[in-house]
Amino acid sequence: MQCWICAAPANGTCRFCGRAVCRQDAKLHSFVLEVYPADGTLYGLAVEDALYCGVCKPRAEPVRMDFLSEPPEAVSNDTGKQ
Ligand SMILES: [Zn+2]
Ligand SMILES: [Zn+2]
Repeated sequence: MQCWICAAPANGTCRFCGRAVCRQDAKLHSFVLEVYPADGTLYGLAVEDALYCGVCKPRAEPVRMDFLSEPPEAVSNDTGKQ
């Protein structure tokens, strides 16, 4: 695999978009593993220095994932047939 930026042999891939980058072009960016509510506040488990390509644009705030949610009825119907 080659670096997305300079085409040198890549040393790793961006944690956010998957682009391969070499050690020289790699940057660091905090990466949120998990967000959970506690005591009325949102807490997050994060890696402060995740590998980042410097090209993509990780969102500072969570993106809505409405398209992932499906009605629970559809799931139970599928399992019921088998
Ligand atoms: Zn490079
Ligand atoms: Zn990236």
